[in-house]
Amino acid sequence: MLQIRDLSKQYVTGNLVQTALDHVSLSFRDNEFAAILGPSGAGKTTLLNIIGGLDHYDSGDLVINQMSTKQYKSRDWDSYRNHTIGFVFQSYNLIPHQTILSNVELALTIGGSRKRERQIRAKAALEQVGLGDQIHKRPSQLSGGQMQRVAIARALVNQPDILLADEPTGALDSETSVQVMELLKDVAKERLVIMVTHNESLAEHYATRIISLKDGAIIRDSDPFEPDQKKITEHKNMGRSSIKLPTAFALSLNNLATKKGRTILTAFASSIGIIGIALILSLSNGIYDYIGRIQKETMTSYPITINEQSVDFNRMMGNKTMEGTVKNKKAHEKGLVYSNSSSLAMMNQLTSSLTKNNLTEFKNYLDDKQSEIHRYIGENGIKYSYDVGFDVYSKNQDGAIIDTSTNAFQAAEQEQTNSLSSPLSQFKESVMDMAPQGDKMYAKTFEELLVGSNQQQVSNVVKNSYDMVYGKWPQKYNEVVIVLDEKNEIPTTALYALGLIPTKQYNRIMKEIESGKALKQEEFHYSYEDLLKRKFYLIPSCDHYIKQKNGTYKNVKGDNLYLESMLDDAVKLQVTGIIRPIKDAKNATLTGVVGYTNALTHYLIEYANQSEIVKEQEANPDVNILNGMKFSPKDDAAKVSDAKRYIKNMGISEKANLCSQLASLMLGNLPAELKRLTSLDEVQLANMADTYLAMADDDIFLLLYNNYISTGNYDNNMSAFGYVSLDAPSSISIYADTFEAKEAITNSIQKYNERAKATDRITYTDFIAMITKSVTKMVTAVTYVLIAFVGVSLIVSSIMIGIITYISVLERTKEIGILRAMGASKRNISQVFNAETFIIGTLSGVLGIIVSKLILIPSNLFMHSLLERTDVNASLPFGNAICLILLSILLTLIGGWIPSKKAAKRDPVIALRSE
Ligand code: ADP
Repeated sequence: MLQIRDLSKQYVTGNLVQTALDHVSLSFRDNEFAAILGPSGAGKTTLLNIIGGLDHYDSGDLVINQMSTKQYKSRDWDSYRNHTIGFVFQSYNLIPHQTILSNVELALTIGGSRKRERQIRAKAALEQVGLGDQIHKRPSQLSGGQMQRVAIARALVNQPDILLADEPTGALDSETSVQVMELLKDVAKERLVIMVTHNESLAEHYATRIISLKDGAIIRDSDPFEPDQKKITEHKNMGRSSIKLPTAFALSLNNLATKKGRTILTAFASSIGIIGIALILSLSNGIYDYIGRIQKETMTSYPITINEQSVDFNRMMGNKTMEGTVKNKKAHEKGLVYSNSSSLAMMNQLTSSLTKNNLTEFKNYLDDKQSEIHRYIGENGIKYSYDVGFDVYSKNQDGAIIDTSTNAFQAAEQEQTNSLSSPLSQFKESVMDMAPQGDKMYAKTFEELLVGSNQQQVSNVVKNSYDMVYGKWPQKYNEVVIVLDEKNEIPTTALYALGLIPTKQYNRIMKEIESGKALKQEEFHYSYEDLLKRKFYLIPSCDHYIKQKNGTYKNVKGDNLYLESMLDDAVKLQVTGIIRPIKDAKNATLTGVVGYTNALTHYLIEYANQSEIVKEQEANPDVNILNGMKFSPKDDAAKVSDAKRYIKNMGISEKANLCSQLASLMLGNLPAELKRLTSLDEVQLANMADTYLAMADDDIFLLLYNNYISTGNYDNNMSAFGYVSLDAPSSISIYADTFEAKEAITNSIQKYNERAKATDRITYTDFIAMITKSVTKMVTAVTYVLIAFVGVSLIVSSIMIGIITYISVLERTKEIGILRAMGASKRNISQVFNAETFIIGTLSGVLGIIVSKLILIPSNLFMHSLLERTDVNASLPFGNAICLILLSILLTLIGGWIPSKKAAKRDPVIALRSE
């Protein structure tokens, strides 16, 4: 039972106050067909909307089934509209993109009914209005009368107590109007029907009660009703009315599915922004990748290298003294002669820039895993080099033993007995000075291969720069590889050093060169198998010393008598592979012809440190075990006795030599006597020395000791024996991956220097600092530009997506009104729209990524041909793609959020009126 008590409603627009309802009181029976008549502007629709809960009264009360609605919250009104009210509008207000069945189901959907139940009830309702056979048609496929009957079915499907009809026949011809009126009359048998109409005759004919309004007040009521005054209950909710999230999605998906083309266009328009960002991200990703790779390659070729001995070029070049002397050259007063000391200053600068680095201390710092520097070390890590002494020999097919370990030129020279004055040697002297670094011709034959990180014998840097043309990479200490150049060539001199060219043949070539005749270019070639069969004999430095009967050691290096026998005990080096630089390799920096592994270095260090001679010298740190003399004798007496022992151990020729030396020392001012001496042979001279020394006093021996005998020193001996301490590398190479990391490493070393004692400070020359600095600046600039691009495209696309979503929401205003009239809450409305924007966002994100990926294919091809290189590739990382889809969803949600909020807040009455 519906009661209206003293209801008033005013509309205030600006200064104008329009009274739509003026203290109206009215009660309805539970089932009657009431028609409300009145001129336009009388307040009929307002009354109907207030009864339907679409509009709210200013004062008075609306009582439904003895329940006041004064305290109704919007949730209660939603529920009231859904469960108690059915609406029929003049303009049908069906949702055009849904089938008739779905339209009718909607009220049940909002009410939360299950799908099956919804279908059964909706079909029944449609059958009731005579449209049971048209359920799958869309509203646009029906006539006006049919549409109005669908609207009535929709209003009835929820079994409401009250059906409200606002000019239901206003848009229909008289014949169909009659049909609709018949239907409503039928409906009114079971419930209350309130109809607003202009058509008085229809109202008179069908309605059971006619109420006339004028200026917001009732002027006539054909059948007033005064209910018994019953107690009015204050408040009670009438049941659920809300849309579940899946329903919201289904609703939106349905809506989008009916407008496939439009939806795809909308998604595409939104995706343009995403495509922009994706392309720029891909490009910047490609560029970053490329820059990173270039940096790493550069840094692999140019590690920070700190040598034991170093010339501080920075100090030498950028010194103040030199600038100072130049600046001091102000005009002197004429009339005097002045000194110019700039060349002296330069010399001074040269000597002062020569420094010795304490690499042992620095290694301690590097070995400490806590050191700051470890944060910046690149993939190739830190590499320590040691000066290990060894000689390598090979036998050529003539059976000649050839020293392979020196550089090719030296090896070539070996067979030439000519002294330093030979033209070849002189030429060598001069070219050695000019020889470009890294030229194979002048480099050492043997070179250590960069050791890999993680237990790998050979670094990937080497493996990535060289092709293994034959065989395999060395694994063990006694395995080596032969290094070819890009054309599979090895310098002829090196081939000779490797024992591949017979001595006779080689000598002939050398003779030709010596004589200055034009050289017949002979070509030698060998199969890979030939090279792999090569055997090299490695003799560690310590093995060149042989213990003599008197307990001292003798250096027999270069003594061919011993050499042959030593080869049997030598370390036999096996060639396991042949490598060649890859075309355009960035780090093919090997200059030697034979590459050995770090394992050999360590083997030799271990071998030397365990050798008899090193152990003996270590056990006797005061005595030079090569000649049995003390390194630093206590007093003159010790020197005299050392000198005596030394002389006793001398051989004939040595003694003869000593005699000549003594003579020139003693008889310097007697040229005639000296001349006589030169005519004597070695034996005579030795005898003479013996006679003389037998009667010599200590002063003579002291004189001999100081002038003729050298004691040597401990460190020199040890290094000559090949002793190396692992704590004292000869050089340290620190690899970074980026220029930035390299700068950080430089800073770390600077900090180390600030903390270290003056003697422990490290100096080195940073040759590429200048390049890296400018490149770092460039990289930073490029980065900023790319970030700016991404930022701009992000903003532009956000705005675009927002606008597109906003427009699509505006378009559905009417639907909002319909949904609200059927009991959907404000939240439901935003949910429906958010679901739609979510779907569009996902769609546009995915579409954007797909289109970007497609665009990247020709773009990369184009870029490759433009840059003439294939290593710059724009590509979108998977993570970024996912982020972009999420971003697209987020942006559309934000873009749609404001309009959907607005839509939800929209007055349903106004929303319904919109076209
Ligand atoms: P009827 O349906 O009888 O033609 P209405 O109920 O639509 O009359 O309108 C009653 C009065 O209230 C009219 O004068 C109309 O101009 C005014 N009115 C209706 N709705 C609004 C509104 N949303 N804002 C301002 N005035 C309104």
